[in-house]
Amino acid sequence: MGWETIIKSRREWSTIPHLYDYGEVRATFSWEKSRRELDGLPDGGLNIAYEAVDRHAAGPLRDHLALRWIGKNGEVRDYTYGRLEELTNRFANVLQRLGVGKGDRVYVLAGRIPELYVTALGTFKNRSVFCPLFSAFGPEPIRARLAIGQAKVLVTTESLYQRKVAGLRASLPHLEQVLLVGDDHKPTHVPGTHDYHWLLAEAGDRFTIAPTDPEDMALLHFTSGTTGAPKGAVHVHQAVVAHHMTGKLALDLHKDDVFWCTADPGWVTGTSYGIIAPLTNGVTSIVDEGDFDAERWYRILQEQQVSVWYTAPTAIRMMMKAGLEPIRKYDLRSLRFLASVGEPLNPEAVVWGQQAFGQPFHDNWWQTETGGIMIANYAAMDIRPGSMGRPLPGIDAAIVKRTEAGGVEEVAEVGVQGELALRPGWPSMFRAYWNEPERYQKCFVGGFYLTGDLAKKDKDGYFWFVGRTDDVIKTSGHLVGPFEVESILIEHKAVAEAGVIGKPDPVAMEVVKAFVSLKDGYEPSHELQRELLGFARARLGAVVAPKEIEFLPSLPRTRSGKIMRRLLKARELGLPEGDTSTLESA
Ligand code: ATP
Ligand code: MG
Repeated sequence: MGWETIIKSRREWSTIPHLYDYGEVRATFSWEKSRRELDGLPDGGLNIAYEAVDRHAAGPLRDHLALRWIGKNGEVRDYTYGRLEELTNRFANVLQRLGVGKGDRVYVLAGRIPELYVTALGTFKNRSVFCPLFSAFGPEPIRARLAIGQAKVLVTTESLYQRKVAGLRASLPHLEQVLLVGDDHKPTHVPGTHDYHWLLAEAGDRFTIAPTDPEDMALLHFTSGTTGAPKGAVHVHQAVVAHHMTGKLALDLHKDDVFWCTADPGWVTGTSYGIIAPLTNGVTSIVDEGDFDAERWYRILQEQQVSVWYTAPTAIRMMMKAGLEPIRKYDLRSLRFLASVGEPLNPEAVVWGQQAFGQPFHDNWWQTETGGIMIANYAAMDIRPGSMGRPLPGIDAAIVKRTEAGGVEEVAEVGVQGELALRPGWPSMFRAYWNEPERYQKCFVGGFYLTGDLAKKDKDGYFWFVGRTDDVIKTSGHLVGPFEVESILIEHKAVAEAGVIGKPDPVAMEVVKAFVSLKDGYEPSHELQRELLGFARARLGAVVAPKEIEFLPSLPRTRSGKIMRRLLKARELGLPEGDTSTLESA
């Protein structure tokens, strides 16, 4: 701990934050009351798409811009809430016509194209289950995920289908319907498939959502595969209460906001905050089809007048690498709130936000399993760089230790690390790991959901991420979290990224080893190696500092941008690499 605090004054507020006072909002918060902020279906049920689209289309937001899509080549397409209602009604009717019903799995394999958003919302309307797949997956990860979830429908593009799916059809007996979006808007005529747009045009534009139980399954989301084979987390319609409230309280979405979540819907962030939360909150959401490119991003921020921006540490580190100069060319004064998720956000990156954008990045923590943000730095709260913030209203988080009897006990002392645990009961908690009931059960011990992450809590209730339980290093009787070591290394001017592992050692059990990639303009050398070892030792002390440093051109990452330490370790030890389906360059 011990990082300086970024103190924010009320004068910085251009709008009054929804969470204007942490203690007060937390004290008066309840999930029951939150549910009443949504409309609910006329029959009393709860359906994600109704809250995201239909209720706005029926009111003053009908002609408000819901989604602005920016194509790779700069083409722009706009969708109002009214238009989204019509398109998603059509897609729900298509599913009906194809005999796809409640609980059937509808997968999408596509980049960030408008049809993905229409499919997700239309699927919710039909009470089928939406399952997104990242478009850069190769055939085997696609096949495995389609088979695990017994996909009945797949929506994809003609070129992705031809390249990755056509050859798999025979091995996927459950896959009854394949809908293709033509490349360059052209109609498609591929045997064994339907043309998506043709079906949509033929379908009726009215649809009445059937009674939806809040516990009806809505989403199947595969985890990032950072620590092992990806797991399929199941979420229900009730999750929308958490999507909505976290969008409001943690991302501080207000009606006039232009919001940009840069995550791909292949990952949970791109669904919870790239599709659902901005729409339930009635804001305008930007979708960029293009890949990361610092200048492209700054241009979008400027041109679209983005006010709330939600991105990830990996992108922030890449922007840091590109330096401050490109940013100075753009007028980014519309930005009023910056947030980050997915990996620990190094203090250096928080502070860099302040230099680059005049405001810090607000880190928040959650997982595929939690469905929505659980711990966050809020607009109205001072930031302690390196901390994930404090638990959301309605969320009880604790640091626990496993006991020998197989239970857990809460760690009462401040600053002591243990496993991060949450009291179950929030609306977007996962309801199952698909087809893995035992694995699911194992996550719940002594009245807690155990997250698999290590953290500590300071005296004011701020949580500090230490590492994943799988990644933590045991060296000479100490437990060392990789994050602390990586954060120090990237403070060095030559270092772009760092990944830290424990390397088995006969004396110390493990020694800390760091893999480092360098910023442009720096070359690996023995001198730099020595300098970095000394730099880290001076700041971390001999026990925690790395004993070895190895330079890599880049670090292995998941497609959602997370450093895969398990792979660094497997490669170091010459062990099998395990499931690499989500590896970026796979
Ligand atoms: P898998 O479970 O398959 O190994 P994964 O855990 O990376 O993959 P996700 O659910 O996408 O899959 O990621 C959630 C995890 O990401 C968290 O458990 C945590 O380890 C990490 N994480 C997310 N946000 C933060 C954050 N703000 N600070 C630190 N770690 C974070
Ligand atoms: Mg996980």
